[in-house]
Amino acid sequence: MARYTGAACRLCRREGTKLFLKGDRCYSDKCSLTRRGSVPGQHGQAGGRRRVKEYGLQLREKQKAKRYYGILEKQFKNYFVKADNKPGQTGENLLTMIETRLDNVVYRMGLANSRREARQLVFHGHFTVNGKKVDIPSALVKVGDVIAIAENSRKSEKIKSLIENIGGRPVPAWISVDNANATATIVALPTRADIDFPFEEHLIVELYSK
Ligand code: SF4
Repeated sequence: MARYTGAACRLCRREGTKLFLKGDRCYSDKCSLTRRGSVPGQHGQAGGRRRVKEYGLQLREKQKAKRYYGILEKQFKNYFVKADNKPGQTGENLLTMIETRLDNVVYRMGLANSRREARQLVFHGHFTVNGKKVDIPSALVKVGDVIAIAENSRKSEKIKSLIENIGGRPVPAWISVDNANATATIVALPTRADIDFPFEEHLIVELYSK
């Protein structure tokens, strides 16, 4: 499972916006973007923000989306190609497709503090989809799918503590969560309005369409 393993806060500082990669810390005054707010590296503090031209804006928007969801370039480009082949707006197709990744659903249903944690939980086989174990974080869910914690995993102390904390964050309308049983049902496909991050996805489309 290829993934970025560097400092999460550095990515937020690079993008100049909160990407919410570290769970509760992101909402506290310990958030390093709140405390420092500068671009990382020796030129970050001294140079301030450089003038960013059209290509730079497009590139940054793509990087922001990749980092927000924790997806590497090759896979992100594959999502774009699929999104472009679907009817409708490519940018919206892209984001709504990525939203249906199993790791994102686990995060959205409130069972992980961050997408990074959700990815680890899925990778370690803690979840089932429609009763079958699925350990592929990038697996896409569809309407009617039921996501649950694998029976063996319910004995784990870590999983027990995550179940206790479920319900701490708002859940988007396309996912129906049964907090008592820690299960989720996909009741609709997400729309752009369900995604609470202000992406300018048209910039990503422009970048890949060059
Ligand atoms: Fe980003 Fe969260 Fe780190 Fe703040 S605490 S910089 S939002 S990862």
